[in-house]
Amino acid sequence: MFDRSRRRLLTRRRKPDLQRMPWVVEEEIFTDTCTRCNKCINACETQIIAKGDGGFPSVDFQRGECTFCYRCAEACPEPLFQPQSEQPWPLVAQVNEGCLAHHNIECRSCGDACEVMAIRFKLQPGSVARPELESSVCTGCGACVSVCPASAITMVNNDNEES
Ligand code: SF4
Ligand code: SF4
Ligand code: SF4
Repeated sequence: MFDRSRRRLLTRRRKPDLQRMPWVVEEEIFTDTCTRCNKCINACETQIIAKGDGGFPSVDFQRGECTFCYRCAEACPEPLFQPQSEQPWPLVAQVNEGCLAHHNIECRSCGDACEVMAIRFKLQPGSVARPELESSVCTGCGACVSVCPASAITMVNNDNEES
């Protein structure tokens, strides 16, 4: 049985820039069990999975977005992925201070990339419109990350943000 509180603890211990695939089990089990066979890498329809530290696969949102197609999970011969009915991951996007609009430079690239319209631009008196992110709407797909010309969007663990 999957233990969410344990996963939260383990997720906190991960390196902040290390993101495994959606639905993947906790990190310690993952690195103990993954054979580094690359099947998930080859199966990913958006090619966002790459070999990371130690040859283990990890997701790089600079390559694109996750479509939640579940192909990585279906391709994996090991019991490393939860059922598709589970939440894929607790990730949400976060707009950081480097955002061009925060520096009064017009840009709506992230909003244009967000299919579910989790990023809305709010007009500011005497300034350009700034992005406001609705975490409850964000799916954690990462589509807004690579399109940001200022690299001002990071994916964060929403479980940690809430606790
Ligand atoms: S769910 Fe699909 S798009 Fe997302 S990492 Fe897996 S294979 Fe790639
Ligand atoms: S398919 Fe499974 S075992 Fe193979 S590299 Fe990917 S996660 Fe590891
Ligand atoms: S991660 Fe996906 S859903 Fe969330 S704000 Fe970015 S584009 Fe929208």
